[in-house]
Amino acid sequence: MAIRNMLTRAMALILAVICVTVFTVQVSDAALMSEAGTSAGASVDTAPKYVFFFIGDGLGAAQRQAAEYFAQEKDNDPGYKLTMNKLPVFGINTTYASDSLVTDSSSAGTALACGYKTNNGMLAVLPDGTKVKSIIEAAEEKGIATGLITTTRVTHATPAVWAAHNVDRDAENEIAEDMIDSGVDFVAGGGYRHFVPKDWPWGKSKRTDSRNLLGEIADKYFVYTGNGSTKSFLEMKPQGEQKVWAVFSESHMPYEIDRINQGINVPTLAQMTRKGIEVLSNYPNGFFMMVEGGRIDHACHANDAAGSIYDTLAFDDSIKVAYDFYLKHPKETLILVVGDHETGGMGLGFANNYFLKLDELLDCKASIEDMLSAGPYAYKKGDDRNAYFKLMEEQMGLDHLTDAEKAEITKAMDLIDQEVPSDSSYGSYNQAAIAVAHVISERANLQWTTYAHSGTAIPLSAVGVGAEKFGGYKDNTEIGNTMAVLLGLKLGPIK
Ligand SMILES: [Mg+2]
Ligand SMILES: [Zn+2]
Repeated sequence: MAIRNMLTRAMALILAVICVTVFTVQVSDAALMSEAGTSAGASVDTAPKYVFFFIGDGLGAAQRQAAEYFAQEKDNDPGYKLTMNKLPVFGINTTYASDSLVTDSSSAGTALACGYKTNNGMLAVLPDGTKVKSIIEAAEEKGIATGLITTTRVTHATPAVWAAHNVDRDAENEIAEDMIDSGVDFVAGGGYRHFVPKDWPWGKSKRTDSRNLLGEIADKYFVYTGNGSTKSFLEMKPQGEQKVWAVFSESHMPYEIDRINQGINVPTLAQMTRKGIEVLSNYPNGFFMMVEGGRIDHACHANDAAGSIYDTLAFDDSIKVAYDFYLKHPKETLILVVGDHETGGMGLGFANNYFLKLDELLDCKASIEDMLSAGPYAYKKGDDRNAYFKLMEEQMGLDHLTDAEKAEITKAMDLIDQEVPSDSSYGSYNQAAIAVAHVISERANLQWTTYAHSGTAIPLSAVGVGAEKFGGYKDNTEIGNTMAVLLGLKLGPIK
């Protein structure tokens, strides 16, 4: 009887402990949620001093895995893993927008940067137009150094949500004006066309006025413009709390596959990340930097398997730079890697086939969008078809075309020769470029459902101080809000 009593009391005690544990977890979750939704409290004593927020635009699970398998194939290293796939904490995130289950980058970026849902096309504002503060704006107010690094135009949606507000993501001239006033300390990417006056003699401008925004910030920032500034950017040794504004190309920076094979003289994403660390490490209160692999998305819009893979590998190289920094400062650093949405509906397998042959992509040397669709390798009306097939053999590895493959490309050439405008069946790209992209994908058995985005949930990985708070099945708004709470930052509508 006594023993049973003791057992019962022991059971009750264990149950009580379990209940308290569950209750504590619930309370802290609730506290986290309410802090995130309203006002963030003081930063917890475990707040990271150095934060890397990596966003792969269009980076779904398939894009991550295709790049990893391709790297294994290319380097004959079956055990190779991407750095992003080796981080210890994993999560999966929903990405829907306020007005659609399939998000765009401005809505998804607003969720990640500001912690709020909004409509597609809207940038760091609520659907009613109310501006909402980003983590970078809140970090600036708190004296934390900030950086924005991307392979797209710096005014493009993913970087812009952190330092601008607009109901229209395409208003990039206005976004540029917002960004130079944001106080962000280190900016590197493409898109000088929105910062230079309309009659700028050294390159194309998209501005409709005579403002030279780069001139306007020259008293505060070290400014680097055009790919001719690559060398001085890379050699720059920061002195004290330096501010940097670097825009290397008129529009987006080149696809990694083209940067490599065309020898284009712009820094890699990894080099820009390394320079960002050098510059922002000189600030006393730590840093927060967003690094975007922005053209993974563009490649997948064009159903360009190799283009997506090379940009994902370049993105992973930049994560490796941050990971090396983390190894030197493990108790002060947080690295988060996430996608904003998936692009293309990339499928690793098709029809009744059980195979994936990424070695079919090994001889691809050019991007579908910039080289085959809008660039020098585009098939144009009346072009020599045999010369085009030969070019595709040299540049894209398309040797020994089957009759079916030749017919698929020939059909696209016929449309171009007949001046039929490209439509949604070819994603509005050059029809022959898309036919080539699809023949290559069919050889690899890698397939696409769309030229736009898909609504699939997105993997997240993380390492470092507070990383465990980002694991699990979450919505993308919880990522931004959890980050704000972790850093003791207050997000919310801007009055
Ligand atoms: Mg983007
Ligand atoms: Zn996109």
